[in-house]
Amino acid sequence: VPDISLSIQNYITDKLSGQMVELFEACQQQSSDLERKEACRARLQEVIQEIFPVARLYLTGSSMNGLGSRSSDADLCLVIKGNKRPNPIDVLSRLKRAFRSLPYIERIQLIRAKVPILKFRERGSHLEFDLNVNNTVGIRNTFLLRSYAYADVRVRPMILVIKKWARHNQINDASKGTLSSYTLALMVLHYLQTLKEPVLPSLQKAHPESFNPFMDIDMVPDGPKNIPPYISRNQSSLGELLLGFLRYYATVFSWDKQVISVREATTLPKTNSQEWRNKFICVEEPFERNNVARAVHEKMKFDAIKVQFAESYWILHARKDLNSILPLRSII
Ligand code: ATP
Ligand code: MG
Repeated sequence: VPDISLSIQNYITDKLSGQMVELFEACQQQSSDLERKEACRARLQEVIQEIFPVARLYLTGSSMNGLGSRSSDADLCLVIKGNKRPNPIDVLSRLKRAFRSLPYIERIQLIRAKVPILKFRERGSHLEFDLNVNNTVGIRNTFLLRSYAYADVRVRPMILVIKKWARHNQINDASKGTLSSYTLALMVLHYLQTLKEPVLPSLQKAHPESFNPFMDIDMVPDGPKNIPPYISRNQSSLGELLLGFLRYYATVFSWDKQVISVREATTLPKTNSQEWRNKFICVEEPFERNNVARAVHEKMKFDAIKVQFAESYWILHARKDLNSILPLRSII
C-alpha cells in the first residue's frame, strides 16, 4: 500500500536507523531558521535595489533544498539581468561598501574564488551568508536537489546524517580541499540511484521539462513542486542504506575510472577530457556537467577521504551503532 511505505516509520527497523532519525530530527533546519534567513534576504534585496534596480536576490542551497541543518549557512544568488554581463567582483565590491553602513551586518569579506562571493554575518544571530552574482546554476540545482529530497522519505535523513558524519571527520570543507556539502549530496543520490533496486530514479530523465537547463530563471519553482513521489520497491532501512553507502565508496566505486553522474543515474567512464583528467574525484554537475569535486586536488586530502570511508565502514559494520562513527552527544 503506497500510503504506508511513504512513512519514515517503515524504515526504522533497527537501532541504527532509529539513531539516524533521532539525529535528523534534532538537527534539521526549523521553520523559524528559514524565516530568519528569508527576513534578512528581503531586507538586503531592498538595499541592493537602491544600487541595481532590477536585481533580484534568491535564497539557494541547503536553506531551500530540504537538506539544511540548524547550523547551515544561507546561500544567496543575486540575479542581475541584462545583455551586458556585469563583472561579479565589481558588483560585490559595491555591495561590500553599501553593506558596511548596515547595522545588522558584520564581518564582510570579499572572496575572489572561481565563483566570487561576499561573505558576511548577521549581527547577533551569527547567521552566515554567502552571496554570489549570477551563478544561476545554483538556483536550478537547488530545485533539483529539493525534488530528490522529497522523492523518498529516506533521502533527507540519509544526506543530513552523512553531512554531519563528514563534517565531524573533517572531510566536508571545499575551502580546505575536501568535499563540499553539495558534492556529498550528489554522492548519496548516486548511491541511491544505482542500487540493484533503486531508491531514486534520474529525475532529469523522468521529467525533462521540469528540469530544462534553459528554463527562464524566474520560472524555476522555489516552493515544493508537483513532482510525484517515486514509488521504489527498495524497502531497505535507513541503517542498511547508511552502511551500504559507506561500503559502496569504500569497496565498490572506482575513483580512478569512474565519474558520478546523477543526471544519468549511473557512472560514466573517466575520459581524458580537460574536465576529468588528473582529477582525484569526479562528480558531474547535473546542469553544467563540470566537476563539482574539483576542490579535492591534493593527494593527501584524497587519501584522507578514502581512509575515512573505509574506516567508518568497517567500524559501523562491526558495531551497528551510529555513535561509533559520529558521537551523537557532540552533535545534538
Ligand atoms: P550546507 O548545509 O553545508 O550549507 P549546502 O547544500 O548549502 O550545504 P554548499 O556546498 O555550501 O552546500 O553549496 C551551496 C549551494 O551552492 C548548493 O546547494 C548548490 O546549489 C550550489 N553549489 C555549490 N557548489 C556548486 C558547484 N560546484 N556547482 C554548482 N553549484 C554549486
Ligand atoms: Mg550552504
